[in-house]
Amino acid sequence: MAAFEIPEEQWAQVVEKSGGPAVYKKIPVQKPGPDEVLINVKYSGVCHTDLHAMMGDWPLDTKMPLVGGHEGAGVVVARGSLVQDIELGDHAGIKWLNGSCLACCFCMQADEPLCPHALLSGYTVDGSFQQYAIAKAAHVARLPKDCDLEEVAPVLCAGITVYKGLKESGARPGQYVAIVGAGGGLGSMAIQYAKAMGLHVIGIDGGDEKRESCQKLGAAAFVDFMSSKDLVQDVKDATPDGLGPHAVILLAVSEKPFQQATEYVRSRGTVICIGLPAHAFLKAPVFDTVIRMITIKGSYVGNRQDTQEALDFYQRGLVKVPFKTVGLSELQDVYSLMREGKIVGRYVVDTSR
Ligand SMILES: [Zn+2]
Ligand SMILES: [Zn+2]
Repeated sequence: MAAFEIPEEQWAQVVEKSGGPAVYKKIPVQKPGPDEVLINVKYSGVCHTDLHAMMGDWPLDTKMPLVGGHEGAGVVVARGSLVQDIELGDHAGIKWLNGSCLACCFCMQADEPLCPHALLSGYTVDGSFQQYAIAKAAHVARLPKDCDLEEVAPVLCAGITVYKGLKESGARPGQYVAIVGAGGGLGSMAIQYAKAMGLHVIGIDGGDEKRESCQKLGAAAFVDFMSSKDLVQDVKDATPDGLGPHAVILLAVSEKPFQQATEYVRSRGTVICIGLPAHAFLKAPVFDTVIRMITIKGSYVGNRQDTQEALDFYQRGLVKVPFKTVGLSELQDVYSLMREGKIVGRYVVDTSR
């Protein structure tokens, strides 16, 4: 494969101070280090985390100035001298976990998201809201050549995250899983992954529009938290024996569902926390948790193997992502919609405009 022509400068969305805004401007293209690749990002999904990174409202500092973005899909155009298993011209994805040390006790056991030296795309290192982005070769997602780079972008964070949560829940084919926030962007992907994994889905969300979208995606039941008079009972009743779902996946961005889940999960069941409501706490009755042997766990993105598995479900056509594409130059408008809670599905930015 012949070398690519790489420009000196490129368009990017740069956050120059915590609190924003992101500024659309030209910046230099970086050169990859020995263990890194340079990816010509074609499309990048926009995640809620990107807004938090710009606002600086999480208890973890970002680099500054910062190029956000961690759902970048593109083409490898340069590689460092140590990189051998990726060719120029290969399709690759930039995900939240940009790199890790590969040597600590977590990396050794494929828990690399827990690595104390983890590099985070669009947070502690520059991410995919630019035309040329750098990532550690060991960690970039390997995308098949025939993969649609626009459509696959949201799988690189949203898809991996919900798939990993379902795996962590330990729910087996034929069992029931409740997905809280099932009508949102993450939720719509979680329903499809759960179905593809052979699970029955109980969607929990509010409003008729969300009900319709959950049913269309194949949820076996829907419980509307806005109109339900007894949510706990309704969720239990949605399972054939009335004992409740075997697992609960919490994607909600408010605190209350986190307090309720242990009440309707089946005895011996597992509650998986994924959504990150600000300043929220978990609360569960100790008595119930003990005598019903309930497990409560957090689940955070995924490792390299989870990434490839999540992509494989997509590649087989089992997961479709509802998305809308705008130019990279319009990123600030996407953030405004996000703040107003007006986003249905996922926004993808096209870095060529
Ligand atoms: Zn994300
Ligand atoms: Zn490590």
